[in-house]
Amino acid sequence: MQLVSSPQLISELLNAARVKGLTIGLVPTMGALHQGHASLIAAAKGENAISVVSVFINRLQFNNQEDFEKYPRVLDEDIAFLKTQGVDYVYAPAESEMYPDPPITQINFGSMTNLMEGKYRIGHFEGVGLVVNKLLNQTLPNRAYFGLKDLQQFLIVKRMVHDFSIATEIVGLPIIREASGLAMSSRNRRLTRQGEATAANIYAGLVKSKDLLAEGKSISETKRWVTNFYEQVVGFDLEYFEFVNPTDLCPYPEEQSPNELAICIAGYVEGIRLIDNLYLRPD
Ligand code: AMP
Repeated sequence: MQLVSSPQLISELLNAARVKGLTIGLVPTMGALHQGHASLIAAAKGENAISVVSVFINRLQFNNQEDFEKYPRVLDEDIAFLKTQGVDYVYAPAESEMYPDPPITQINFGSMTNLMEGKYRIGHFEGVGLVVNKLLNQTLPNRAYFGLKDLQQFLIVKRMVHDFSIATEIVGLPIIREASGLAMSSRNRRLTRQGEATAANIYAGLVKSKDLLAEGKSISETKRWVTNFYEQVVGFDLEYFEFVNPTDLCPYPEEQSPNELAICIAGYVEGIRLIDNLYLRPD
């Protein structure tokens, strides 16, 4: 495994691999790696000759300075973890290398950012769009791997790659959870034991939503019942709870019986912002 911090060097190394006909799989991360990242890495390794994991905490996608400052930074631990995963390249550029000049280009994702993360984290997806473009241009991967935990991000990146005719396949992989159901997240490191137990209710509410819909309850009844459940969870502050159509991220028409539906939630436990979702497809 080789650790690379220079954008120019990673491009050169991967160009050399590409001319030999080797395929490249990229896993973009912000570090503090866990089994959710490991599942993306396993897919990247399984489907490509060369695997690259980027570790870069992208200041531009944080709308909250405190969240940026408190984001876990454990590069040495991440490097040790990535060695055990058999990754070929770790690409960990410094901020000055990634952004030698403050970027002036802005990508506008239109209606895809009207709700949820786009609504509550103003400027978040513009920052994501910029860094994902840079990473894809620096590494020119055949495939790039994203977790469905960040469902809105995955859909936006997929659409951006389509609109820009970027020749990378965007692969989305399922959410990896703790035994409690809590979606794995780098931010979970900041939770106390009690906080973890509180946060497990996030998934419990999503599962309850699925069960109520399966029993024939309408979306509005389900939403009301489960919102009430979340309001009763001591130590949990709900930010949003949305039932959306996963193709366009618009609210699901309440009178329509759900076909393909994503139930998305964000909230705070111990001041830490957590997100999760359940993607329901017809059997
Ligand atoms: P992050 O380091 O949090 O920016 O995440 C890097 C990538 O890992 C993103 O594509 C995330 O969606 C994905 N990811 C994070 N947590 C999980 C998880 N629990 N299961 C699957 N993928 C995840």
